[in-house]
Amino acid sequence: METAHQDLNRPDAHQVYGLPLDATVSKALTRNGWIFRGARSDNAESLMCYLTGKELKLDVKDVYLWANSNGDPQDRFSFADTWKVCKTPAPEVPWHKQVWFPGSIPKYSFMMWLACLDRMPTMSRLRNWGLVEDDTCILCEIYNETRDHLFLRCPYSYDLWRWCISRMQLHFMGFSTWDRLILWLQAPCSEGNLSTLKLLVAQAVIYTLWHERNARLFTGKRTPVEGLYHLLDRRIRNTCLARDKSPKLRGMLEYWFRGLSN
Ligand SMILES: [Zn+2]
Repeated sequence: METAHQDLNRPDAHQVYGLPLDATVSKALTRNGWIFRGARSDNAESLMCYLTGKELKLDVKDVYLWANSNGDPQDRFSFADTWKVCKTPAPEVPWHKQVWFPGSIPKYSFMMWLACLDRMPTMSRLRNWGLVEDDTCILCEIYNETRDHLFLRCPYSYDLWRWCISRMQLHFMGFSTWDRLILWLQAPCSEGNLSTLKLLVAQAVIYTLWHERNARLFTGKRTPVEGLYHLLDRRIRNTCLARDKSPKLRGMLEYWFRGLSN
């Protein structure tokens, strides 16, 4: 029945079988049998042979059912299953838990995801596309603005990382490459929700640096790195406070403040 089923999936299937576009089984099946147009193809003929061999109840109302990928009817609709059928499967990336995790902030995660894929429109990428001639980093005005430079190696960004990481009383040696950053984020912490705080802070740093870079580029407004300390502090405090109601995310604020006690 494979080919006959395929025939039924054609957009003009109702015309092939002489049925209205919105025909249901009850409209096509009467007490005198199926009201299909005479078979004009092998597929149509095999479909009719198949259907006439089936016993269907005439007094039962038609209902629409979701089908799984095999065509088997299901009594419920699943977004997850539908997504799997529609999308092209891609290999799993080793850093997805550092991008999407319980308690993450979607706008931060989205930017982190783009950065992990190196899809941010940095000056070096724009230059490669022929859209700009000068790809100098707007934060330090010395080096080329690649992803790893802008977010990790730029002296301006380095200061922001060092300040954030000292706030959590963690050891900081700088991140020379994106892989080093991911490895640091993947390293488990023995204390409560410190691992989650680390992820939230890292994503907030990436997000804040990108905004500062865009502000300088498009408005000419420049904030010294000390200004970003205060901005990030407020963002992290608000994030931790909002998550303190969740039993699984409670206690992150304590880790954020402990670097202040020294
Ligand atoms: Zn720079």
